[in-house]
Amino acid sequence: MSLYAYFQGKIVPLEDAKLPIMTHALHYGMGVFEGIRCNYNQEEDQIYIFRSIEHFQRLVRSGHIIKIKVALSPTQMTDIALDIIRRSGLHQDMYLRPLAYKSTPAVANLKAHTLDDDLLMFAVPLGDYLDPNKGIHCQTSSWRRTDDLSIPGRAKVTGNYVNSIMAKTEAVEAGFDEAIMLTHDGHVAEGSGENIFLLVNNRLITPAGSDNVLDGITKNTIIELAKKELALETVERTVDRSEIYLADECFLSGTAAHLTPVTRMDHRAIGSGSIGPLTKKLQQLYFDVVRGRNKKYIDWCTPVFTAKAARVWPLPAVSPSSDRGDAA
Ligand code: PMP
Repeated sequence: MSLYAYFQGKIVPLEDAKLPIMTHALHYGMGVFEGIRCNYNQEEDQIYIFRSIEHFQRLVRSGHIIKIKVALSPTQMTDIALDIIRRSGLHQDMYLRPLAYKSTPAVANLKAHTLDDDLLMFAVPLGDYLDPNKGIHCQTSSWRRTDDLSIPGRAKVTGNYVNSIMAKTEAVEAGFDEAIMLTHDGHVAEGSGENIFLLVNNRLITPAGSDNVLDGITKNTIIELAKKELALETVERTVDRSEIYLADECFLSGTAAHLTPVTRMDHRAIGSGSIGPLTKKLQQLYFDVVRGRNKKYIDWCTPVFTAKAARVWPLPAVSPSSDRGDAA
């Protein structure tokens, strides 16, 4: 299998993309990143990149928070992604990983504004992350979600994933599938790599953005699909831990996790204890949309294989029109 990376301004074979050991980001967690699904549609023999512009816009916003400048626009980054995937020659589910990071080889320098920024990107095959066909069992983590006044959760910062990894590891070592982290004041925040939804009395509930959660692109997709296709409203508000135990249905949403049903929490059944009917409906809708099968939402899907030839490298170093992304 030949995989490619965008690295230091060029497309290179993945195995040739190597960073010096003094790279600042490696020592201090100074990177912002995205995970983007590129979903294979078998009937069309097509790969669709899901909501790439929104993901790259979030990358730019994350960088803005911790002072990492992303020099390319979301459209330019999407072009790079298309090139990388086409070159791999693969026709299967893939996962795209852009990372903007402090690239200066520097130790003993904690001044973000004095360090250089760079961008890398690669795509690798990826199947299921959590099993979407079974209901998973979650544990309330003993680790608290990092607060907005520590490392803001709405920025997808590499260093902040120490928090997610502590929680996920604790949960899996204790025999659970996933961790749910609370805020410092004890409200529900999110999974280690997913947003959480509850269904209560025919209404979806998900923690508010001010409860230290990432503004999930899957979350926003589900809110829109629920409203438009099922007339189901979502309330974004502070959620108590015990509300999960009493919910009719519960699921997690995330790029890697897709829409994963949660049927047990802290050794308690949620609702009937099996995958709920609305979770099932939303899951079917969601999978059709992300694989480009539901043409009503095809604008969220960028096809990889088109009649247009892949672009020629190297890409010109173009400045974006704004450092806040296309939509800002
Ligand atoms: N929260 C965290 C901590 C995550 O890492 C992710 C995955 N990116 C999510 C939520 C879900 O976000 P999205 O749907 O945009 O992938």
